[in-house]
Amino acid sequence: MAGQPVAVVTGGAEGIGFAVAERFAQAGCTVVIADLDGSKAAAKAAAIGPGHLGLAMDVADEGSVTSGIAAILARHGRIDMLVNNAGIADTHKPTVDQDNLAFERIVRVNLQGVFAVSREVGRSMLAQGRGAIVNLSSIAGLSGLPRRNAYGAAKAGVAAMTRSMAVEWAGCGIRVNAVAPGYVRTALLAELIASGRVDQARLQRRTPMGRLAEPAEIAEAVWFLCSPAASYITGVVLSVDGGWMAF
Ligand code: NAD
Repeated sequence: MAGQPVAVVTGGAEGIGFAVAERFAQAGCTVVIADLDGSKAAAKAAAIGPGHLGLAMDVADEGSVTSGIAAILARHGRIDMLVNNAGIADTHKPTVDQDNLAFERIVRVNLQGVFAVSREVGRSMLAQGRGAIVNLSSIAGLSGLPRRNAYGAAKAGVAAMTRSMAVEWAGCGIRVNAVAPGYVRTALLAELIASGRVDQARLQRRTPMGRLAEPAEIAEAVWFLCSPAASYITGVVLSVDGGWMAF
């Protein structure tokens, strides 16, 4: 599949990331799914069609990121698009019951992971003089959701880092944007609902459109921001939230 854009999706084996992988494949990209479990990532890559790649990567582990990105570059020669999607949920405990270890883990995956992968991919995009990056922020990073200290801080950090990298690389042919989803019907959210940490009926009442998002609706916005249709857009944090931030 030489000549087709190469797109890397972290955390692409499930949920929003898998919907993004499917959407980018449909648009003609060669997709690389980078996720914790390498054989699951490979199976999911095979499920979206021939020629796509799945590999093991832990975005919270610098060595894993460095070797994973090097392996992708060795195989495909370049990376044209990067979607920093890998993320984990917060503990949803009251602030006074939270501990530093859990806080650190959430920030390490959700914020430092975006930094580490962007840095490695950014080097090759700078060398080739073009590229597009989309980071997954969240309404939790743009508003004040209770018991989401670490998650909200990490996602606010992702929005800030998006703008910072966008301005730094704007003259180098690299665009950097973010999507901030509202509540999306994925395994991550299903687990929060099942454990009683999130009340689905309350969420739907709070969302002006009255429903959760489907992963494909987030993937569409991610694809738009990566695609040539968004050629003059950089440094934007696009809420895709059924009106949550407007209310
Ligand atoms: P999910 O749990 O369904 O899938 C997350 C994927 O990321 C999994 O495949 C998992 O294995 C992978 N992953 C987790 N830690 C990783 C690591 N250290 N390295 C590599 N891969 C890792 O989650 P989702 O709901 O699809 O969320 C995807 C992104 O969207 C996350 O960044 C999340 O914070 C964000 N988001 C989700 C929602 C929502 O309502 N689901 C809302 C706003 C933002």
